Amino acid sequence: MSRRIVPAKPRKKIEIDHLAISVVKAIQPSALSKAERFEIERFFDCYLEEITGVKTDYRALDDGIYGFTDSDRMECVISCELAEDATSEYFCRSTMAHEVGHAIMHVMDYRLKKALLRSIHRKDHQLRVYREKEIKIYKNPEWQAWRFAGSILMPERPFRRLHRQGHSDNEMSEIFGVNPAFIRSRKKALNLRA
Ligand SMILES: [Zn+2]
Repeated sequence: MSRRIVPAKPRKKIEIDHLAISVVKAIQPSALSKAERFEIERFFDCYLEEITGVKTDYRALDDGIYGFTDSDRMECVISCELAEDATSEYFCRSTMAHEVGHAIMHVMDYRLKKALLRSIHRKDHQLRVYREKEIKIYKNPEWQAWRFAGSILMPERPFRRLHRQGHSDNEMSEIFGVNPAFIRSRKKALNLRA
């Protein structure tokens, strides 16, 4: 079954990268020049609400749900089971970065869209949903949130440098604190050879 989602405002890779980099620059600028872990958990706990107005929380979620962001309720939630599982630290970091992407890019988009619909139709409107495959990639909020997560956890400059120096996926995984699969997809996203 294909998921149904609300398309986001179109965004280019470079716009998403700039957004992620501006966050890293403000919070942990050293991560832009040297390869180190961006402290996404600290950002989630201490800065996200201040910057976006979106509240953060950890809750028990259904099996298979690791996090979600709700634009009506203005909240960004991570599974407490995931957060407490030391063996899933890397996956938790990427899930958080993904949800942070939704909170920064999509919460305002959707609230604005709804407010416009409300002012036109004078009643509450649900945003129209589409099957994921009907949505162009640059309007797909999931693609946008993963691009954001990749850029914030693996900033392009240090990432390219490590790759050039011939570090393995496993070494890069340790350095950035993400799973090797995410290192590989980031390489693909930056058109680097595997
Ligand atoms: Zn998502």
